Amino acid sequence: MKKYIAEPFRIKMVETIKMTTREEREKYIAEANYNTFSLRSSDVYIDLTTDSGTNAMSSAQWEGIMRGDEAYAGGRSYFNLIAAAQDIFGHKYIQPVHQGRAAEKVLFELLLKEGMYSISNMHFDTTRAHVELAGGRALDCVVKEALDIADRSPFKGNMDVEKLEKLINEYGKEKIGVVIMTITNNTAGGQPVSVENIKQTSEVCKKYGIPFCLDAARFAENAYFIKKREKGYENKSIKEIVTEVFSYAQMFTMSAKKDAIVNMGGLLGIKDDEDLFIQCKARTISFEGFTTYGGMSGRDIEALAVGLYEGLDEDYLEYRIGQIEYLAARLDEAGIAYQAPAGGHGIFVDAAAMFPHIPYYEFPGQALTVELYKEAGIRVCDIGSYMLGNDPDTKEQLKADFEFTRFAIPRRVYTQAHIDVMADALIAIKARAKDVKGYRITWEPPILRHFQAKLEPLK
Ligand SMILES: *Cc1c(COP(=O)(O)O)cnc(C)c1O
Repeated sequence: MKKYIAEPFRIKMVETIKMTTREEREKYIAEANYNTFSLRSSDVYIDLTTDSGTNAMSSAQWEGIMRGDEAYAGGRSYFNLIAAAQDIFGHKYIQPVHQGRAAEKVLFELLLKEGMYSISNMHFDTTRAHVELAGGRALDCVVKEALDIADRSPFKGNMDVEKLEKLINEYGKEKIGVVIMTITNNTAGGQPVSVENIKQTSEVCKKYGIPFCLDAARFAENAYFIKKREKGYENKSIKEIVTEVFSYAQMFTMSAKKDAIVNMGGLLGIKDDEDLFIQCKARTISFEGFTTYGGMSGRDIEALAVGLYEGLDEDYLEYRIGQIEYLAARLDEAGIAYQAPAGGHGIFVDAAAMFPHIPYYEFPGQALTVELYKEAGIRVCDIGSYMLGNDPDTKEQLKADFEFTRFAIPRRVYTQAHIDVMADALIAIKARAKDVKGYRITWEPPILRHFQAKLEPLK
């Protein structure tokens, strides 16, 4: 049995969560039309919908909240954040924004015009949306290992560099507005990207004169995997690895709601292109607010300046990744398949393997999501055909590469006992898997349907 890495913190404040009965949960989920996004969070015992903005802040961050300078222009907290971000990421120009997608909105229209392309190891959904809103098209170019859930390669999030170069030549280098490296690769299951791969990608970009951008929400988890898995990095500090990784990119967008351990915030970084930064500042003022607060309150900026450093702490990262690996080890023991090895921010369970009798168009990932809520009050989400939706032209249900049910683990929020509840619930469901039925959609909106759709269980 894999050892659980003990928490490198103690608990100073608690939030009571409601214990419900199975009978109550069956009623709540039926009232929510079998869509967990329609549940009230007060009826959820363990909430694993996302690790974004759901993190627990430290006493030092709460101290920062009290210190926050709410000046409209030139606030003290702003300068603290800029100093922290320049120190860690090494980029000269830093712009705070209210969350990651705001950085995408500010930057991408400056890089992409109608008919152009963005190439990424894998685009996150808001990233893809902002590429398309800028008139571009998003091309994913991940290594093939990412598509085999049993393949335990150390860097399954990597860019397929050979294919990248082929795509650039096929579409024409002047048509490629940006190459985006997502670290860790969220869509592939929080899988890391190696320094070697980042370096090679940056060299291809340099060769063709294409801007190279990091989508860096999980920069610290990615650096931890590099330290553990990549030759030559075992004796470097997490901060040194982060600084090196960012040195290869001309710019980055970042959701601070993940590894910077805050509830709201984002950053845009430009390494040294002053003209581009001046344009970003002008757009920030239009969309987000004045440049020295960028859509955030001073207190949130101060908490972010503190959180950026806390996210780099190696003891914290060992506990954080260890927690996910502990859950993975319990699933290995029970013969439950997931995107292996464990990613940085959660476990993506293979619902199609658990329910081989439920076809993709009856949504195995969503069936497991509903069962987990009924079984133990756990809220997770489908990352499969249910989320993918219909073909925009033929209106036919699309078949996803995977039928995943995602357990996204918030930072510093749940304990070993909670992780055991998750594993035990999955094991109980596996034992009665053949009796679980699929679902049918009774109503759906035209886009991003999984947030709002109504479902009913099939007989
Ligand atoms: C969360 C996330 C974003 C978007 O950030 P928000 O803060 O949710 O706007 C972009 N890219 C990746 C990889 C993310 O995980």
